[in-house]
Amino acid sequence: MPPERVVWQPPGAQTELFGDDAPSFDTNLDYRPPVPRAYFELAEQAVYHRSPQRYDALYRLLYRLVNGEPELLEVASDPEVSRVRSLSQAVRRDVHKTHAFVRFRRVESEEGERFVAWHRPDHPILELAAPFFRDRFPNMCWSILTPDESCYWDGQRLLYGPGAPRSAAPESDELEELFLTYYRSIFNPARLNLPAMQAEMPAKHWSTLPEARVMGELMRESPERVREMLEAPKSAAQAFLPRTETLPELTRAAKSCEACPLHEPATQVVFGEGPDRAELMLVGEQPGDEEDLQGRPFVGPAGKVLDEALAQAGISRAGVYVTNAVKHFKFEPRGKRRLHQRPRVGEVVACRAWLDAELRVVKPRVIVCLGNTAAQSFVGSRFNLQRYRGRIFQQPWAEAWLATYHPAAILRAPTAEARAETWTTLVADLRKARAFLLGELATPTESLESR
Ligand code: SF4
Repeated sequence: MPPERVVWQPPGAQTELFGDDAPSFDTNLDYRPPVPRAYFELAEQAVYHRSPQRYDALYRLLYRLVNGEPELLEVASDPEVSRVRSLSQAVRRDVHKTHAFVRFRRVESEEGERFVAWHRPDHPILELAAPFFRDRFPNMCWSILTPDESCYWDGQRLLYGPGAPRSAAPESDELEELFLTYYRSIFNPARLNLPAMQAEMPAKHWSTLPEARVMGELMRESPERVREMLEAPKSAAQAFLPRTETLPELTRAAKSCEACPLHEPATQVVFGEGPDRAELMLVGEQPGDEEDLQGRPFVGPAGKVLDEALAQAGISRAGVYVTNAVKHFKFEPRGKRRLHQRPRVGEVVACRAWLDAELRVVKPRVIVCLGNTAAQSFVGSRFNLQRYRGRIFQQPWAEAWLATYHPAAILRAPTAEARAETWTTLVADLRKARAFLLGELATPTESLESR
């Protein structure tokens, strides 16, 4: 049927336009005209556009494609092609914004816990947007309400229903403060671009975005924070990082690191070790004498203590990624002996790029810092182990971050009593990390100012 002879009506419209003369079609036609896949890819989006002309636009294109113009979609300048492309793009953008700007609020009801969000997309695109949330939150019961339609995930099925007013969704919940703390911690002032942000985050979404509440404060603080970031020392090891970040590549590249003087007297670099998707990462200070000779972390006397503590805490060392803040052994020769020397701040900073790369590859859920130096390499020299030991903090590098004693502290403890106490504390802190991984502890809400 030529497009000029087709009248499109909104879904559900009743009409007597043709009365009994309405044409009938044989839907079991054998003839299947070839339609390029690209057409369906466009149509799958464009059909969700709010424009009443969307079916007409799509049909006109389809008609020409199957009537002598199979290459039509290649002609970007064709007005009908460009019209459908712009419908499709608008829908894709709207779906993307829905993914980015939907914010759930927790609701307790007799049926249990639910999460409800209210959102105002430009087009009725929930069917396109909802599968993203289903895959992301499969174990939560949630609803997304919009003025045109709503959808509900009960843990099994996605159900769609009519639209709902804004008042049907809660304004805020007790998780909001937690979210804002998280948002503050990941906000990067150096990437603040106000015009781009306003274009990306249209004002109509602000009222449902909790972060809009703290945006003004974060923007006011940005110049000062950027200045601090610029003044912060850069890690010299950055220059030695390989192009491809995998653990074998990093280990290989670290062998040639000369970013600080520690590589000169040391026997070899001692890189981290463990599965590349370990959920738990342990970070010590630096390799010791034995580690320097063997080229592996935590294999000396402190490593043996650590193995025992991990076993006592119910953690298999084979599943843990173990590394150090500084990758070369720093020591002072005393006759035939090499005495451990604490690395200077500059050496820790120089080496930090390796630790950052390990974090990017392993992406641990929990980081346990063993000793003050390791913790300070994350959160700066103001960190105080006595004050913060054993407390779980929220940090950008993992879901949970805590610091405890280095196992060498047990070996160095002056009395048997102090030794026993340090040992008990180390094991208890490792147990805490395990409990978090098992989901027995809540997500931390405390945060420490990072480097
Ligand atoms: S200690 Fe770290 S930064 Fe210094 S040379 Fe060794 S690997 Fe490089």
